[in-house]
Amino acid sequence: MIVILKKDPDQQQLQHFRQWLEARNVSIHPTVGLNQTIWGLVGDTSHLDINLIAALDVVDDVKRVQEPYKNANRKFHPADTVIRVGDVEIGGGTVTLIAGPCSVENEEQICQVALQVKAAGAHMLRGGAFKPRTSPYSFQGLRAEGIRLLSLAKQVSGLPIVTEIMDASQLDCFDDVDVIQVGARNMQNFELLKVLGELRKPILLKRGLSATYEELLMSAEYIMAGGNENVILCERGIRTYETYTRNTLDITAIPVLKQLSHLPVLVDPSHAAGRYKLVPPLARAAIAAGADGLLIEVHNDPEHALSDGPQSLRPEAFDRLAGELRGMAGLLGRKPQPGEAAEAPAAG
Ligand code: PEP
Ligand code: MN
Repeated sequence: MIVILKKDPDQQQLQHFRQWLEARNVSIHPTVGLNQTIWGLVGDTSHLDINLIAALDVVDDVKRVQEPYKNANRKFHPADTVIRVGDVEIGGGTVTLIAGPCSVENEEQICQVALQVKAAGAHMLRGGAFKPRTSPYSFQGLRAEGIRLLSLAKQVSGLPIVTEIMDASQLDCFDDVDVIQVGARNMQNFELLKVLGELRKPILLKRGLSATYEELLMSAEYIMAGGNENVILCERGIRTYETYTRNTLDITAIPVLKQLSHLPVLVDPSHAAGRYKLVPPLARAAIAAGADGLLIEVHNDPEHALSDGPQSLRPEAFDRLAGELRGMAGLLGRKPQPGEAAEAPAAG
């Protein structure tokens, strides 16, 4: 249920209303805007009499929220959520580029790629240490050592780091990690989501291979219900009948998720396509459709990559793509990242 309060409400009546709700085990999530204050009511609101609430002097309007996700719902929080990681702003009109290899393989590889993607304009470095592989005989990632090398690359490049967690028992390794990724295969690992809800670190939540929008938002809700509101959604392609590509990028997910939720929406064209040549056009399409940024696999030697070489861009190709995306962002009137100049629209 959402309650829109009157402007300048009587404070004593407001306090009574608050106590009345709390006595009914309903918690209040206020959003204070310039023109109006909204109270999102979370808990079992089915027994609340909507007419009684609407009749209160302090209440302008009251609506039942049909969707089962509350904290993630844009009705509860009309403004875009902006998640800050160091100097980077994710959401709220910026374009955030996260780039790096599928897996951290060795010190030279991760440090070199970090410097190359940084020079190309990436805002964060990605790299898998704990890898969810379809085959148990495939490279499983360097695990704790992989995160140590990622930290080193962070020091060398100055880029914040993003890496995937597969199980809550790995959390001790994640102290220096800036954004924790939950992969597609773990989107509905509810026990893991609950543990991540206790943190305040940003969580990059990837859409499951066959998850609906509502299921993705309910997984975000699991994290947010624990108090961690720093959730970034990520569309990474879904399973369809098409076998030419690894998955099918669901472009529709971008405007839909942004309408339903205030959370930032990133797109991973690499895992959607499975082929490096498709990554630039899909990346451009995602930004044109309103994505808040991209997660792109970049490798300095894709032929010899230990995972996902065929879908990895070389650093030079990423550099070209990043330049094009900056141009697009300027044309689309997207907000520059703090400290970055706005891209001048192309002349002519
Ligand atoms: C990844 O980002 O390396 C990854 C494994 O992604 P996904 O969970 O989308 O398959
Ligand atoms: Mn990968």
